[in-house]
Order: sequence, then structure tokens, then C-alpha cells
Amino acid sequence: MGDFSNKVALVTGGSRGIGRAIALEFARRGATVIISYAGNEAAAIDTVKALTDLGGKAKAIRFDVADSEACSAAIDEVMKEFTRIDVLVNNAGVAIDGLLMRFKDEDWDKTLDTNLKGAFSLMRAVSRPMMKQKGGAIVNVSSIVGEMGNAGQAAYSASKAGLIGLTKSIARELASRNIRVNAVTPGFITTDMTASLSPELKEKMSASIPLSRIGNAEEVAAAVAFLASDAASYITGEVLKVNGGMYM
Ligand code: NAP
Repeated sequence: MGDFSNKVALVTGGSRGIGRAIALEFARRGATVIISYAGNEAAAIDTVKALTDLGGKAKAIRFDVADSEACSAAIDEVMKEFTRIDVLVNNAGVAIDGLLMRFKDEDWDKTLDTNLKGAFSLMRAVSRPMMKQKGGAIVNVSSIVGEMGNAGQAAYSASKAGLIGLTKSIARELASRNIRVNAVTPGFITTDMTASLSPELKEKMSASIPLSRIGNAEEVAAAVAFLASDAASYITGEVLKVNGGMYM
């Protein structure tokens, strides 16, 4: 029995990359895990199989986190089928890069709507059931880029910095209801999102990281599971860096 036995966790974007590693970590610790995805059904099916192979219950729901009505409907669906929701991880995200002068409005909107409004809509939707349950834990996956900024990532960094402010505000708002809200800020992590970067750039990035290497999704998952667990029962409004020392 793990520390998430009898608990229900929703991990957005849990079909691939960091989200998949987070979902697997919760499943290993005994949780029922619902993953969401945007369109890649094959990846979602594969992850649900990996989750159920660990012995627990799992399900995938397809919806666009940028659509607030779809977010509410997804939480309703989870409540209807599983009757409770103990953990929400807002992990789904997109990174659309481009220099300021050429950056399109539609790319700005898509980035902010997915990375920031999505987290807002889902936190709003889970707040009611979590309040009724008299507790819950929310972890938002921000980014080192939200802390440091990065040339060519204006929209992405704005969305991730906004997510830190959102985390702290909702942490203050829901603390009296025993709902903890925290964030992690991963550094450079090996996933599909970073796969397209050239080997030269990856080598250059590694050289700038005190631990001298790129991180992996499991290292982010361990931090997220800690913040969502009872081991972090006195931690809320925290922003935990998982970046190999790249930004202190
Ligand atoms: P990834 O491999 O590209 O996976 C993204 C996941 O999000 C997929 O499951 C995808 O579903 C889902 N998704 C994307 N847009 C969505 C939408 N509109 N609605 C619902 N689901 C959506 O990404 P990752 O690298 O694991 O990143 C996960 C999170 O960590 C993101 O928030 C990212 O910003 C953050 N992060 C990543 C790094 C890094 O170095 N990789 C560093 C710092 C922070 P489909 O597969 O169906 O499209």
C-alpha cells in the first residue's frame, strides 16, 4: 500500500513526457490515476496500460485544457465515476517559440490559454469537490523559464510566470479549506518538447547546469508526488525548483 492508496489523482497532459512520469509515480504509490490528453490517443492508451499494469485503476480523458467548459465537464466526469478527487496536477502545456517582432497573436493566445487559463479553469472546477471533501492537493507544473525569462520564449515565460502568481494566490485562498497549492519549476528535462533541440545546444545547456546534465521526467515526478503527498502537509504556496542548480 502506498501513500496515495484510496486517493484519486488527475494529471493533465499525463499521456506523455513529464505528465506520464507523474502519473506512473502516483500509480506506484497506490493512486487511481486519470490522465488527460489533447489528441495523441495512441500515447494515452499506452500510458493507461502502463498504469493499470501497476495494479491500480486508470482512465484517460480527452479534452482541451484551454476550453474552460471542457475542464468543468472533465471534473464532473471524474466525480461521477470515481466520486472524489484528491490531487490535481496541472501539467499540460505547450511551448511555442519565436522572437517578439514576429510572434503571432494566435500563438500568444494558444500558449496563455493552454498553460495558464487551463490551470485556472481546472483549479476553479476542483475547488468545490475538494472543499466538500475538506482537503486536496494541487501541483502546477511551471518552468525555470517563468523564473528566469528566455529570449524567444516571451509567451511561454509569461504563461509560466503567471502560473507561479496564480499558484500563490490560490494557495492563500484555499489554505483555510485544507487545500494545498504548490508549483514545480523544472529546468531542462528530456521529453518530446525538448527532443527537437540540436545536440550542440543540449551540450551547451548541460555545461551551464551545476549538476552537468539534463534532467529526466522521473526526477520532476518525484518532486510533484512529494508536494502532493502528506509528507508535504505544511507546505503551500511553494515553488520547488527541479533544475539541477541551473537557477538558484
Ligand atoms: P510534452 O512531452 O510535449 O507533453 C505534453 C502533454 O500535454 C501531452 O500529454 C499533450 O497531449 C498534453 N497537452 C498539450 N496541449 C494540451 C491541451 N491544450 N489540452 C490538453 N492536453 C494538452 O510536454 P513535457 O515536456 O512533458 O512538458 C510537460 C509540462 O512540463 C509542460 O507544462 C511544460 O511546459 C513543462 N516543462 C517542461 C520542461 C521540459 O524541459 N520538457 C521544462 C519545464 C517545464 P497530446 O499528446 O494528446 O498532445
